[in-house]
Amino acid sequence: MNESTVGKTVEKMAEKTGSQVEETIAQHELDLGRLKDALALLGVNACSWCKKFLRRSDPGALFDAGELVCYGCISGWWAHRCTELSSKDREILEGKLVYWLRGSHHAELFKDPAKLPESSLQELNLVATCLECRGTGSSLGEERCRYCAGRGTVWVIVSRNRE
Ligand SMILES: [Zn+2]
Ligand SMILES: [Zn+2]
Repeated sequence: MNESTVGKTVEKMAEKTGSQVEETIAQHELDLGRLKDALALLGVNACSWCKKFLRRSDPGALFDAGELVCYGCISGWWAHRCTELSSKDREILEGKLVYWLRGSHHAELFKDPAKLPESSLQELNLVATCLECRGTGSSLGEERCRYCAGRGTVWVIVSRNRE
């Protein structure tokens, strides 16, 4: 075996190993996909943001925004997601998110930022468009929307250590 033959043999081996590795990875991806499907059947889904698996039957665990997002990721996810949405889509999804936070995490709405609980007592803090006046600050027959005191925005707060 001269040097060039050895070189070619090594090259061939490398090629083969490369495609074998790819095959193995593809196989693993397939297996993972099947595993995810199986988990979904059992009611366990992954957060699209942190990839952690959570039980979907727990109403507070995952927020369904088309993609699933766990409660722990909501702040980071929303800050990122709402910049990608049209104002119409944002309004719809924000309404859904606030509804979910109130229903599953006892979020409270505040119209006056001066009245918010201390920041150390806030577990989640989200500024949302007032749904009553759709952010205009005034509603029919009233000069100033009473749900947001005319600001057009409300503060959605989940307090820490709620029992
Ligand atoms: Zn998450
Ligand atoms: Zn309002």
